[in-house]
Amino acid sequence: MEFEKKACASGEMPTFARRTAIASLAVGVLTLSAGRGIASAQAAACPTQAGWRWCHKCEGMFYAAASAGMGVCPAKGTHDGGGSSHYLAILGETASGKLQGGWRWCSKCEGMFYAAASAGMGHCPAGGAHIQSGSSHYAVLVPAETAAPLQQGGWRWCSKCEGMFYAAASAGMGVCPAGGAHIQSGSSHYGFWYLP
Ligand SMILES: [Zn+2]
Ligand SMILES: [Zn+2]
Ligand SMILES: [Zn+2]
Repeated sequence: MEFEKKACASGEMPTFARRTAIASLAVGVLTLSAGRGIASAQAAACPTQAGWRWCHKCEGMFYAAASAGMGVCPAKGTHDGGGSSHYLAILGETASGKLQGGWRWCSKCEGMFYAAASAGMGHCPAGGAHIQSGSSHYAVLVPAETAAPLQQGGWRWCSKCEGMFYAAASAGMGVCPAGGAHIQSGSSHYGFWYLP
C-alpha cells in the first residue's frame, strides 16, 4: 500500500492500476447508470472515476454518465462526447507531487472546473457561476505535457470561466461560457489518464 500511495502522489499510473481500471470499466458502467456514483478503479493506486469526456463543441471536459444527461454546452445545446477518449478523473484533494486538487464537477453544466480560485466559481454555461454542491473532490495531473502511456496532455484552465478545456485541438480554443473562446493564459499544463 505504501508503494501505491507514492505512485499516486507522483502522478504515475502503475501498470497494475491500469489493469484495474480496465477490468472495472464494465462495473463502472453499471454503477454510473444508477447515478453519479464513484465508478471504477477504487483499488487503483489513485482512486479514479470513469465517465469523463471531451466535448468537441466547446473543448471542455465534462461528466457524460450523469443521470441528468449531457449538461449544458456553451456552444449551445448539450455537451457532445462523440469522438472523445474515455477519461479518468482522479479522486481526492492531493496537492503534492504531480497532482493539483481543487477541481470540482458542476451539476448545472456537468463541466469540470477549478473551485479554489480567488476569483470565485467562474461562469457556468447554464447561467450564473458554477456550483460544487454534490461534487467529489478531483485532482488533475500537473505539470503534464508529455504523452506517457494512457496519459494525454494539452489540457488547460480557463481564467475566464474556471473550466478545464483541451487547448491543443486543431479547431482552436473552443467556446467559453464567459464569451468568446477559452484562454490558456496563466494556466498550468494539465493531463488526464484515459482508458485504451
Ligand atoms: Zn460542450
Ligand atoms: Zn457549470
Ligand atoms: Zn472559458
